[in-house]
Amino acid sequence: MNESILTTLHNEHKHAEDLINQIEKCTDIVQKKEKYLQLKDALLPHIESEKRTLCAHLIKDIHSKEAINVAESAGDRYKEIKNLFSRLDNILIESDEWDSTFRKLNFTIRKHVNEDEAAIFEEAKMDFSQDKLIELGREFAKIQKKLNH
Ligand SMILES: [Zn+2]
Repeated sequence: MNESILTTLHNEHKHAEDLINQIEKCTDIVQKKEKYLQLKDALLPHIESEKRTLCAHLIKDIHSKEAINVAESAGDRYKEIKNLFSRLDNILIESDEWDSTFRKLNFTIRKHVNEDEAAIFEEAKMDFSQDKLIELGREFAKIQKKLNH
């Protein structure tokens, strides 16, 4: 695969947003649960792989304050997303509490997407060559594949 990591991440963000919209509109509980699990299975490996590739390289290879700041702030968002998923796993999907917690998750994911695509992508474009971004894309795919098994 010869795709820049930024393209892969962007496509996965679109996919997650699409699933969120479907979950919000869903009136059938079985379908809602199914879509929720799809979202979780897509997003947890996404953030973990992002952390281990793009963010790790911004911290390790680029010795600028800005690069470290954006990568660390992304790390805070990862933790929030993980926590919200584990809260949702322990609430009945039929309850109002589930819906209100899901709204928080939705908000946090959108914040993650905005931060990625504005701050992180801009920083990465400044710091890494196109070849490096493609190499990171391969690394990302490899880690994600491992996490999915
Ligand atoms: Zn992302």
